[in-house]
Formats: sequence, C-alpha cells, structure tokens
Amino acid sequence: MSAESVFAARIARARAQMAETGVDVLLLSVGADLPYLTGYEAMPLERLTMLVLPADGPAEMIIPGLEAPRVAAADGVFDLVPWGETDDPIQLTIDRLGSASTVAIGEKTWATFLVDLVNRTSGVTFANAGAVMTPPRSVKDAVEVENLRRASQAVDRIAVRLQAGEIDMVGRTEAQLSAELGRQIVAEGHQKVNFAIVAAGENAASPHHHPGDRVIQENEVVLCDWGGTMNDENGVGYCSDITRCVYTGEPPAEFVELYDVLFEAQAASVAAAVVGTPLEEIDRVGRLIITEAGYGEYFIHRTGHGIGVEAHENPYIVEGNRQPLEVGHAFSVEPGIYVPGKWGARLEDIVVAGADGPDPLNTVDHHLAVLG
Ligand code: ZN
Ligand code: ZN
Repeated sequence: MSAESVFAARIARARAQMAETGVDVLLLSVGADLPYLTGYEAMPLERLTMLVLPADGPAEMIIPGLEAPRVAAADGVFDLVPWGETDDPIQLTIDRLGSASTVAIGEKTWATFLVDLVNRTSGVTFANAGAVMTPPRSVKDAVEVENLRRASQAVDRIAVRLQAGEIDMVGRTEAQLSAELGRQIVAEGHQKVNFAIVAAGENAASPHHHPGDRVIQENEVVLCDWGGTMNDENGVGYCSDITRCVYTGEPPAEFVELYDVLFEAQAASVAAAVVGTPLEEIDRVGRLIITEAGYGEYFIHRTGHGIGVEAHENPYIVEGNRQPLEVGHAFSVEPGIYVPGKWGARLEDIVVAGADGPDPLNTVDHHLAVLG
C-alpha cells in the first residue's frame, strides 16, 4: 500500500469514530496521533502545528512555515496551511472550526494552545480525542503487527548477547550499561532510544529505576528493560519494549524461587491472552500465582500496557479493565516482584492477540541468565 492509501484509510477510520462519538472536528498537534494519521510528527515547540480534520471536507494542517519543507505525505491526504512568524495560528485554527459544536483535541496537545482555543471560542465543547483515536490505534492491522515484530526481534537480539555474557556488566556502572544498551538499540535498526533501564542489586526493587553511578558487582541481579522506536516504510515509528534479568554469579536459592514464580506467572498471563477474555483476567491469572506463592505485596504495578506508535498506550492490562481482548491488540505482559532494599525481578514480552491465540513477539529465552 502506498503511504497515501495507508493514511487515507486511517483518516477514514478516525472519521467513522468521529461520527460514532458525535465529534464535528478533530484537532491534532504534538503527540503520536498525528504521525499515526498523517505520517508527520510535529516538533514539540512553542510554534503551533495543528491538523484540522472536519467530519467532512478537506483536512488541513496548520504548520509553522519553516517546518513545511519537512512534510512529505501531504499529497491527497491533507492540505498545508503554512503560517509566518507574525501570523496568529490559533486564529487560523478557529477560522476552520466553522459551526462545530463538539471539537475533539489530541490529549497530548499543550495546555497553552487549548487554553487559548477555549478562551477565544464560544459555544464549542472541547473533548478528549482519545475517544476518536483509541479504537483505531489499539487494534493493529497485519502490517502494524509486522512492524512491531521487527522492532521486538531487534531487542531480542540484544537480549541474546546480554544473556550470553557478550555485553560487559560487572565493573561497569548502571549508567554505562544503559548507554551501551542504547547504542545497541540504534545499531539494531531503531531510530530512537525510548529507555534503557538498568537496575542492579537492591535498585532492582524500583520498577522504573533511573540508572546511575552504582557499579555492577558480582553475585547480584541486574534487571534490564529497554526499548526504542523503529520507523516503518512510511516514516511512522513502532515501539519495542523488553525486560530480562541476569544474575552475575550463582543465584541464592531464595532468588531462584522468586524468579521461578515470576516465570510461571508471566507464562500463565501470556497463555490467558485469548481473544474475548476480559483484559483484567490476564492480570489476575499471573497475580494469583504470585500471590499464592507469598509475593503478592511485592507485585506493585499492573501487568501491562498497550504498545504501538507509543511505548505506552491503550489497552491497559489492569484490574477493572473488563474490555474484551480483540484480535490485533498489542500489549506488554510484564509482571514483577520487588522486595524493597533487597532485590527485584521483572519479565516482559510484547504479545499480540491473534485469532488463533496469543502471538508473543519476543521469543528470546525467558529464564534467569546466570553469568560468571
Ligand atoms: Zn519495559
Ligand atoms: Zn513495558
């Protein structure tokens, strides 16, 4: 499919959702909705970029004149409205709202622009564009699944080297190993590093630990969680996200026992990812195993998050989310056990809901890698 037909199809899906939710105009600025719909990512700057997509009629992108040369995919998908340094881009946006009464605006749009729009319009209700954009974005088509698989396979290759002891750990700081993972994320074909968490020893008890100058020692756990964004042929980025744990020496029986429980819980949650299952059930299945083994109080976060053009997006695998799993949902399954002051472990794969059952995109070894 050409870029134009990919984006035209996505805009048609967004318009169908606008009709369903009673939205007259969709406004998208910074954030992932805009590149998903058009292939163009707005720079997160003080100059306004805004796609104005009416329920019918041509879509227009209001864009700083100096950014216009970077827009490649405009032909047939939207018209460009470049503005100069002395123009008023908020007014250009308002001029295009027509008689709209409900305007959905991208949830990552900067408050400064939304506040101006609210204060300078009347009779307009502004709504969160999540209701328009979440349904199309959370159900991946076959091409998107392959984009995610490509990114997952790239981070799997790094995990293979990590588990084989080919990436130096002991004697390096967490920050140095994090930088090394970042370099490998790019070397394996990603355009962007999203994160490279390295947490050694007691730091592994903090799920989103910020890698620092702590030196990795022998005989401790090293939790690594890394991912990036890899562009597809249309320049739209899809994310990877994986967690594996390494022990720099022979692990004590107590840690082996903890990891075995985690391993079993993660596999059970992946196996539970059958189409039609309420999303909370995927969380419950693994959490029950962890709780029955006595570690329930140490599993302090939900089981997973959706993934696609953003590293964290809908749907969320969390208690209370009774939404049924649909073919094309792509999400992480990442239970963790975190014992404060002592150690922690997490095991994470990206999984896609396939018609025939769960399709794990990360297939690299799930066991605790024992090095040294
Ligand atoms: Zn992760
Ligand atoms: Zn994750």
